[in-house]
Amino acid sequence: MNFSFSNSTRIEFGQGRIAKLASLIDADQKVLVVYGGGSIKKNGVYDQIKDALKDHSWLEFSGVEANPTVETLDKAVELARKEKVDYILAVGGGSVIDGCKYIAAATLYDGDGWDILTRKYTVARALPLGVVLTLPATGSESNGGSVVTKAATKEKLSFGSPLVLPRVAVLDPDVIKSLPERQVANGVVDAFVHICEQYLSHNSDAWVQDGYAEALLRNLVRLAEEFPQRDNDVWRNNLMWTANQALNGLIGAGVAQDWATHMIGHEITALYGVDHARTLAIVQPSLLRVQIADKRAKLEQMGRNVFNLPQDDNLAETTIEAIERLYSSLEIPIRLSHAGIEGDTAVPALVDALEKHGMTALGENRAITLDVSREILQRAA
Ligand code: NAP
Ligand code: FE
Repeated sequence: MNFSFSNSTRIEFGQGRIAKLASLIDADQKVLVVYGGGSIKKNGVYDQIKDALKDHSWLEFSGVEANPTVETLDKAVELARKEKVDYILAVGGGSVIDGCKYIAAATLYDGDGWDILTRKYTVARALPLGVVLTLPATGSESNGGSVVTKAATKEKLSFGSPLVLPRVAVLDPDVIKSLPERQVANGVVDAFVHICEQYLSHNSDAWVQDGYAEALLRNLVRLAEEFPQRDNDVWRNNLMWTANQALNGLIGAGVAQDWATHMIGHEITALYGVDHARTLAIVQPSLLRVQIADKRAKLEQMGRNVFNLPQDDNLAETTIEAIERLYSSLEIPIRLSHAGIEGDTAVPALVDALEKHGMTALGENRAITLDVSREILQRAA
């Protein structure tokens, strides 16, 4: 398909790069530094930011939670308006970055910020945004996507706009040394599924996108194999760059994309609080099995080129099994029951939530109706 591709986020990759923020953010900008629950105070990142911004005027907002809520983010919006902030600096993982995209847009919108998520308002203006990434997983540091939760109604919705694409993203692999094992494993899985959402569709003639996607997938398989020995620079560097490239727009340019795993997964997080990546590992294998007729050729290609499996009549199914083994090797649950969720009550509740959010025709062919989602979730139970 025809496409436009542009990714203008300036990446600053490598050890010690946080210091470069001193010159990357204009000296006359008043900066709001936004972060989460405090990991950056324990691992030295906060002190590096403080040093870098010593000649800037800046203030801070902390307490953005995992799966950021509009209730918390609106407090930051109020602060940004009151203090006439010019620039938002997100310091964290996908939750803080996504939250800051909302803050950047909502600060310059007169109505209720939730309108951005319900698509009642299309973002027309946003404050400039910079990022210091502390958790490689989402790719949010150089894409225009954001996922925000409304705690009051247990809804998790997404929006996207080129206006919230970060201007600069600092990727210093040293800052991920303090990540708990669970978050590192989540990162590998989230990045893996991002690639699958763009690669595992009926396209077969986009050689650049396919070849690049396969290289990234092979990296993640290797990162998973070397997971027990991951405490080294090479492993960290490659995870950070692979997760970034997985969702910066390039491998999705001009190809049919799917994203049904993400949309169904969001409902599981919204209702049951399961980590984002874990919801994907629960939904994806069942979704691939239900959609196997449409995805057979690409699953076979993935089996050959990513998992090095021999061609046989069963290759598509063997590839799905290889994906499940990959997640299980990282101790990530691949069924609802593994995450302590009872299918009999959860499946109808999740299907209702999908209906409420208009998720009635998902997937690359818009063929995943509510009935198909129900079947996927029943298989995932
Ligand atoms: P996260 O929710 O941002 O962070 C998870 C936890 O990791 C937090 O408790 C955080 O603690 C901690 N943490 C982060 N960096 C750390 C570090 N260096 N050392 C120690 N602890 C650290 O996780 P995430 O997986 O990156 O983001 C998930 C969110 O992104 C979900 O809401 C998901 O829906 C969304 N998402 C967005 C996109 C996109 O393209 N925009 C794509 C996929 C998913 P602190 O709070 O204390 O820092
Ligand atoms: Fe994701």
